[in-house]
Amino acid sequence: MKNDKKLSELGEFGLISRIASGVSSSGSVITGIGDDAAVTVSTPGMQLVTSTDMLLEDVHFRRCWHDPYRLGRKSLAVSISDIAAMGAHPRWALLSLAIPADLPLTFLDDFTSGFLAMAAEHGVALIGGDTCSSRSGLAISVTIMGEQFPNYILRRSGAKPGDEIWTTGSLGDAALGLKLLEVDSDFPGSEGQVGCGDKVNQYLCSRLLDPSPRVLVGLALAESGLVSSMIDISDGILADFGHIAEQSGVGGCLRLDDLPFSPAFRLIGDKLPLFPYQLSLTGGEDYELCFTASPESRGEIAECTKKCGVEATPVGIVTSFPEISVVRSDGTSYGLQTKGFNHFT
Ligand SMILES: [Mg+2]
Repeated sequence: MKNDKKLSELGEFGLISRIASGVSSSGSVITGIGDDAAVTVSTPGMQLVTSTDMLLEDVHFRRCWHDPYRLGRKSLAVSISDIAAMGAHPRWALLSLAIPADLPLTFLDDFTSGFLAMAAEHGVALIGGDTCSSRSGLAISVTIMGEQFPNYILRRSGAKPGDEIWTTGSLGDAALGLKLLEVDSDFPGSEGQVGCGDKVNQYLCSRLLDPSPRVLVGLALAESGLVSSMIDISDGILADFGHIAEQSGVGGCLRLDDLPFSPAFRLIGDKLPLFPYQLSLTGGEDYELCFTASPESRGEIAECTKKCGVEATPVGIVTSFPEISVVRSDGTSYGLQTKGFNHFT
């Protein structure tokens, strides 16, 4: 495929064919891209689980930080993460793009390659979408559909007082990666370097730029029958557990000293007097799973997640009093400066 062509020469239908040419066939897709609507086959007995996300240039990503291939991957990853959070199997995706006229075609080719690579990794078929021109930056909208048997689907509303609060993986890496990219002058160790120089920085930045949705562990937890509620951590565990608490009519107490940090986060975060806990509590875009389960299931939960190659850590307890607190190991409460990322504040 020639890459020196311009988007205006290709036109909308040319662009759609260009994207469609990279899509591989899937047994569940009877009619894919190219007709008025797609036709898919559902798994008998399963229910449809649907979610949509928008990524806007200079709101969710910056083109100077985000290479198009990883932007394509992430555009789908954040949606797959929502399906993972329901304990469902991701199946079909729709991709809509509002594209600035001057966007190089090579950018769109690399974006599409990244999107389709993420799709292939999780067995997702791209079945349609829309394209139009944008007068102010690139806008990406992804709708994803997944499936699961009704009794396995996990919601935010099932947490009970006395349940333990868990998180998969480590917290705060993506937020620290963002700090590194911003090269904040207040940020010790960032002077004179552009974010992703060494391996530690690269790891932290890749957690922001190329997140891995926790599909397998989400499915395993859902199908274990041990989990009472689940959500993916896109806005920081404090805000996202807050959604579980609100929907379940409960509260929670998070233990500051049990929050899991990655080795890379420790290496850099430990140099920071204030940031580490704030970042791990309120930093966005980790795309880990936060879930609740009875304390009696602790051993089984740990075994279940380990089988999927993912560490999970109990980090708190669900309370009947509808408030969220954070305590240190000596029992004193930790003052919170912010509650997590919120688009409208
Ligand atoms: Mg979510």
